Formats: sequence, structure tokens, C-alpha cells
Amino acid sequence: MKQYDVIIIGAGAAGLFAGIAASRNGRTVAIVDMGDSPARKVAVSGGGRCNFTNTAADVKRYFGKNPQFVRGPLAQFSPTDMLEWAKSHKLKTTQKAAGQYFCADGAAAVVRALMGDAAQCDMVMNTSVIDIDKHGNTFTVHTSNGDMCCGAVIVATGGTSFATLGVSDIGLKIAKKFGHKIVPMRPALCAIQTNAFDAELSGISLPVSIRIGRETIRDDMLFTHTGVGGPAIYRTTVRDIEREIIINMAPDTDVYEFLRKIKQTNGKKTIGGAISMILPERVSRWICGDKSATRIADMRDAELHNIAERINNVVVPLSNIKYHTLASAEVVRGGVDTADVSSKTMESKLCAGLYFAGEVLDIAGDLGGFNLQWAWASGFVAGNAI
Ligand SMILES: Cc1cc2nc3c(=O)[nH]c(=O)nc-3n(C[C@H](O)[C@H](O)[C@H](O)COP(=O)(O)OP(=O)(O)OC[C@H]3O[C@@H](n4cnc5c(N)ncnc54)[C@H](O)[C@@H]3O)c2cc1C
Repeated sequence: MKQYDVIIIGAGAAGLFAGIAASRNGRTVAIVDMGDSPARKVAVSGGGRCNFTNTAADVKRYFGKNPQFVRGPLAQFSPTDMLEWAKSHKLKTTQKAAGQYFCADGAAAVVRALMGDAAQCDMVMNTSVIDIDKHGNTFTVHTSNGDMCCGAVIVATGGTSFATLGVSDIGLKIAKKFGHKIVPMRPALCAIQTNAFDAELSGISLPVSIRIGRETIRDDMLFTHTGVGGPAIYRTTVRDIEREIIINMAPDTDVYEFLRKIKQTNGKKTIGGAISMILPERVSRWICGDKSATRIADMRDAELHNIAERINNVVVPLSNIKYHTLASAEVVRGGVDTADVSSKTMESKLCAGLYFAGEVLDIAGDLGGFNLQWAWASGFVAGNAI
């Protein structure tokens, strides 16, 4: 049976970074993955340009039962460290928003750089881990291609979304076997189904603000056939919605004030024409309906107020929100409860030598490079701690 200091389950962002750190510390490392190529989510990330980090990464951009957990790993391997890593590999970077970094050379260049750094690790591909056992200080890793043994195991099996890329729940099964609790999972960073809008609006994108509890986010929203998507909605779905979300489709305009001013100065203007000044024509027609051709002068203030509310204050209750399936979600909320994992080393508090890193844990990041930053940081910490 082949023996290693460390066996890492999963050759994704977290597993590769863990392997790189452990092998640099002189450990013998095998990285076992069920797929035929490593880092498949990295390869498709950021629309193929890999949004690999964000300098705004801090506890406020992470979600889970205990977001504070990210503090330790992010302090040990920060976005600045990741940018240094990219620079050391001569990867060209580009920023979409300030601090949101993509790889201008494409995601494949990031994967090549990772694989170069992981050259000292044995890559065991096309091999599914089925179970692990521990006897004394030794782990036996049972795989579809036979058993392997080691002194430490890092579980970096990722989330269970986007199954077309090859995913499994073995990380959760292993965690449970050693006494860890699992926080229930749901899709996140995904579109939602809701009948708050009309399918006819499908394809239109708008800058909006969305209030979720005490937080307000601003980004673009895309109408779809079954509801809404786009970055603003993706970011909404990673957060905890308690009762409702409130969407403002014209966040820079107090629409009631705007309409009253037009009524005073240009009352002949139709309501449809006025709303088209701040929203796309099709949205304006949907909002105004058969009133579209009515002159504003002929409308009561209460009617104007009603229309304004349908733009500035669209309340969508939780009961009218259905997350898209895991198949199209970029990440999952939930996973291995961080309560029984050390944030200094990523080691299990229940089983010495067992480590967790990346999305398999109950940590999900905001849209914008935060999930990969979490995978790099937690993988680095786990690999370095062994
Ligand atoms: C389409 C898409 C785009 C994204 N874009 C971005 C982005 O631009 N920026 C960003 O920050 N985040 C992005 N994300 C999220 C990010 O890619 C993930 O959060 C991150 O890759 C998770 O890394 P990980 O190493 O924890 O898990 P993964 O990358 O999922 O790796 C887990 C590995 O474990 C292996 N595995 C699972 N079960 C077994 C088993 N039983 N035996 C052996 N191997 C197993 C899998 O084959 C996989 O290779 C995106 C996600 C998706 C789906």
C-alpha cells in the first residue's frame, strides 16, 4: 500500500494550494481526484477569466453559521499574498471593479501555474475516494483504485453544486463519520424563480439596489423567463433572507418626486413616456400597463405614488423566492460546521490529523473572487500546518 505524509482529497483550488504548501514543507503528498483533470471549477471560473481574488475580502463578505471563522485563514494568506503569487507566475491581471482581480491570460493560465507549483505532489486522477479509516495515527484512504495510507488527510472536496463538473458529498460523509455536524445545504450565487416580475421582461438588465435585512447591495439585475438573476440577485442569494427582499429598480431616482415634478412642469407627458426616461421601454410598459398613454396631468398623486412604489420599493417575500437548483448555483451555503474545526490550522478538533479546506466547509463567499480567495487561504493554512 502506498504511504504518504499527507493525502489530499480533491484537486480543486483548496486541495492544490494545500498540496503546494505541504510539499514545500518537505511532506510527501498525494492529491486524489475523481476527475480526469485538476481544478475544473477554476478553469471555468469568472467566465473563463478566473476572478481569483478580491482585496475587499474580509469577514463581511463571507456567510455561514460563523463567518468570523475566515479571519484566521485570510490573515495567514491574504488577497495581497494571492496577488504576489500571480505576479510570481507572471500572470497578467485585470480589475473589473476596484480590487476585484481576474486573470487577463485566462483561467487556463492559472491552472497551469497551480500545476507547476504542485509538481512535487503525486497527482492521482480518475480515482474516487470512497471512505477513510483511522487506526492509531494512520489513515487508510479507500479509493476506487485501491487503498492508500498516510499520517494526515485534507478533505478539500468542494461544494456539491454544478454537478456537471464532477462533484460528490464524500467530504460531508467523512466529516460525519468523525463526529462533525453538517450545516444543511442550499444553492447560493444563483438566479431565483419568482412571479414578482413578468416573463416578457426576460433578457433586460438593470442597475438596481436590493435591501436584505439591514444590508443594501447595488449591482445589475437580469430579468429571466422564470424570475430574476444577474450579479445583484446572485449576491442576494448568498445572504440570509429572513422575511423579504426589497428591490429598487431606479436606485438614483425618487420616482414619486420625479413624477410630481413632471406633473407640475410638463403635465401633457404620458406616464409611459416619463417612466421610459428612467427605465427601459419594456419595463415601463409592464409597470404602466393600460395607463401608459395617460397624460400625467390626468393622474391622481395616489396613482403616481403607486407606480413609484412599483419601481422604488418592490417587496418580494421569501415565500415568493425559490432558489435555482444546485445544478446552476456557483456555490453552496452550508457544509461542514466550522465549530469543530480550528481556524488556525484547519484541523478537526474531533480527529487529530484530519483537516478541511475550501467550499466543503460551511463558508460561502460573496460574488467577486471571494470564494476562490477562501479556497486558496484555507488550503494554504491546512497544507502549511501539517
Ligand atoms: C461556474 C462557476 C464559476 C465560478 N467562478 C468563480 C470566480 O470567478 N471566482 C470565485 O472566487 N469563485 C468562483 N466560483 C466558485 C469557486 O470556483 C469555488 O468556490 C472553488 O473552486 C471551490 O474550491 P474547492 O477546492 O473547495 O472545491 P472544488 O474546486 O470544487 O474542488 C473539489 C475537488 O474534489 C474532487 N472530489 C469530490 N469528491 C471526490 C471524491 N469522492 N473522490 C475524489 N475527488 C473528489 C472534485 O473532483 C473536485 O476536483 C465559481 C464556481 C462555478 C461553479
